[in-house]
Amino acid sequence: MIKAVVGANWGDEGKGKITDMLAEKADYIVRFQGGANAGHTIVNDYGKFALHTLPSGVFYNHTTSVIGNGVALNIPILFNEIKSITDKGVPTPKIAVSDRCQIVMPYHILFDEYEEERLGKASFGSTKSGIAPFYSDKYAKIGFQVSELFDDELLEEKIPRVCAQKNVLLEHLYHKPAIDEKELLNTLHEYRDMIAPYVCDVSLMLHKALEEGKTVLLEGQLGTLKDPDHGIYPMVTSSSTLAAYGAIGAGVAPYEIKQIVTVCKAYSSAVGAGAFVSEIFGDEADELRRRGGDGGEFGATTGRPRRMGWFDCVASKYGCRMQGTTDVAFTVLDVLGYLDEIPVCVGYEIDGEVTTDFPVTSKLEKAKPVLKNLPGWKEDIRGIKNYEDLPENCRNYVEFIEQQIGYPITMVSNGPGRSDIIYRKSPLSK
Ligand code: GDP
Repeated sequence: MIKAVVGANWGDEGKGKITDMLAEKADYIVRFQGGANAGHTIVNDYGKFALHTLPSGVFYNHTTSVIGNGVALNIPILFNEIKSITDKGVPTPKIAVSDRCQIVMPYHILFDEYEEERLGKASFGSTKSGIAPFYSDKYAKIGFQVSELFDDELLEEKIPRVCAQKNVLLEHLYHKPAIDEKELLNTLHEYRDMIAPYVCDVSLMLHKALEEGKTVLLEGQLGTLKDPDHGIYPMVTSSSTLAAYGAIGAGVAPYEIKQIVTVCKAYSSAVGAGAFVSEIFGDEADELRRRGGDGGEFGATTGRPRRMGWFDCVASKYGCRMQGTTDVAFTVLDVLGYLDEIPVCVGYEIDGEVTTDFPVTSKLEKAKPVLKNLPGWKEDIRGIKNYEDLPENCRNYVEFIEQQIGYPITMVSNGPGRSDIIYRKSPLSK
């Protein structure tokens, strides 16, 4: 069977930790979209790791880590990531990379930088990992597939064809040096040698695994609100962040996805530009940022300070619905223990009307948060293992949010470690 772990919001909900935890009972952990532009932070017995490309299950011996065809594959980053974990004593992981996966080229990263530079103040706040230029080329049908690295005849025909178009833009739009075709061919040969040991037909491998009754975990990157169709377009990422896309980005049947664990953080954070209705500022935000996550809310890939806000029931209800949530994992609840009162965003006021339905971007820009204050619990809840042992106000916070979003919170995370998890029976479970 297939389980998916995805985000309800803007990313950084703690998916890495939940995947790492569920990976204990999984055979394959698959990345199905996105690239090395975001990261997962995982704390385990080997230390603290920031992963950008490898799925979170690499720390187990029994799992195979899979890069599905939907991923934007940066080969040198994958290579260095494998090295960084084996250098710290983690056993060499089993890794499979789809032969249909496409490659982030060095010029995608340059185009990302040049475009943000050109846009200046109007930039998207891209991480400059080349993701948008990569997906643009994939759908313009001038991307390079991993399988093509092994076909020199094809590369020799394709490189000049692609470079001709790129070089016009480099010269006339960005006023930057042109791509050297020979150098590019050499780079692709290096990429081929780096990736060769891992390449396989991932879809077929997973199909056979499912037939044998194995468990496959799909690991999403970012969250619903960054989805190019259903998110806060255009301040979105360039590949779908929804569990449904897992079927495409891993090459599996959609009806095999039986469990969709949507991760929601107990407060909000976001990176990059875009509407963020429940955002807070100043000292209030600084304190939450400093206390947040595990050692502060700063980007795992970029180190950028994250924008902070109170829990947003409107965005999260929508975020869970679009994912097709069967279970909500409610994370980082321990962080809120310092507050006397905890504001929660329960509605959006748009042009004088209050709604709990998440609107399109143009309306979202006008939305003002309707806040409700819930009493805090003023206690350190780390280490608690049973839901009933949580302070009453803490349980009330969880249950209030569950009612507002309408999806069952079956897991509550009260610390960054693998075992910091409280399972809960929810009245909303089907
Ligand atoms: P992802 O991109 O969704 O995997 O999210 P991140 O990697 O940004 O994870 C959020 C941060 O919160 C990481 O530093 C995790 O170690 C940390 N974290 C996850 N769950 C919890 C939790 O329940 N409590 C605390 N304090 N930190 C957590």
